[in-house]
Amino acid sequence: MEERKLTCIVCPMGCQLNVTLNGNTISRVTGNGCKRGSAYAREECTAPRRVLTTTVPVAGGAFPLVSVKTERTVPKEKIRQCMEEIHHIHASAPIRIGDVLLENVCDTNVHVVATRNVPAAGTKAESPKVRNEDRSESMQ
Ligand code: SF4
Repeated sequence: MEERKLTCIVCPMGCQLNVTLNGNTISRVTGNGCKRGSAYAREECTAPRRVLTTTVPVAGGAFPLVSVKTERTVPKEKIRQCMEEIHHIHASAPIRIGDVLLENVCDTNVHVVATRNVPAAGTKAESPKVRNEDRSESMQ
């Protein structure tokens, strides 16, 4: 029997989890405030996964880089390989949040998506829309 301590990263509560392993089999999880913590502990101890975030260069953009992330988690053992593939992306402006910049990174069935807008160079970045009601309230 082996005991492992983990911090659940599924939500901001950060529950401290105690996992009892019997070889590669998880026999008990305690300390979790909800079922998701138990599922996280089981995955983390058997097949850990992570969301990747990074930036890639943009050609012709108002900004030189665009932030990106994997739309879902990828296997932890493929992180280095995924990062290498992501850093070979050649993105061109304009880019919208959610645009897929790389499909199926490292055969994981996970896409890499933009997490910010990058307008073409020389165009104005979109500013948040202000509703008329908001405007009239601020003028009072
Ligand atoms: S166990 Fe549940 S409540 Fe606790 S951190 Fe994980 S997701 Fe949040």
